[in-house]
Amino acid sequence: MHVGGEVDVRSAYCAASVASLTNILTPALFAGTAEWIARCQNWEGGIGGVPGMEAHGGYTFCGVAALVILKQEHLLNLRSLLHWVTSRQMRFEGGFQGRCNKLVDGCYSFWQAGLLPLLHRALHAKGDPALSMTHWMFDQSALQEYILLCCQCPAGGLLDKPGKSRDFYHTCYCLSGLAIAQHFGSGDLHHEVVLGAPKNRLVGAERPC
Ligand SMILES: [Zn+2]
Repeated sequence: MHVGGEVDVRSAYCAASVASLTNILTPALFAGTAEWIARCQNWEGGIGGVPGMEAHGGYTFCGVAALVILKQEHLLNLRSLLHWVTSRQMRFEGGFQGRCNKLVDGCYSFWQAGLLPLLHRALHAKGDPALSMTHWMFDQSALQEYILLCCQCPAGGLLDKPGKSRDFYHTCYCLSGLAIAQHFGSGDLHHEVVLGAPKNRLVGAERPC
């Protein structure tokens, strides 16, 4: 860590990802990082950009994913994290909001729903007997309904919500969220939930997680 410099849970995730991909990930290089990320989990259950900040979907994904890479996800309160993220899926729209009391947004189909496979894995490692072996712990059909019906631009591409413009960012993260909502697990445990006509199934997404 750069003493006196800017710190942010997103940077921790980038550093851990790059170190892992380039095979230079050592405990010494990341001494204290996992504990610092765990301090970013607040009373809501999600993770903020720095300790004491409001929980947010993007920061929470980065924090949890970094801890998975560092094999330290047990430092989090996984139950309160599960409660926070599942409460971000909106009952009426079916999509996810990024923070408490904010509007639903297509890109959180990845940042929030993407947490559920990571949580499933972490809770499975703890031997949680209540875990499903066919479904993630969110309403996979409702999320597909939001993405397919509300986030598609008739001219191509996907968006935040109806009335907004399409862009590459929302196209990427809506499609990534759709892959999670349609596919559970991998290998022998792979299980699909495809809403509506079979043509709604994303092509080439057998092993998304
Ligand atoms: Zn968005």
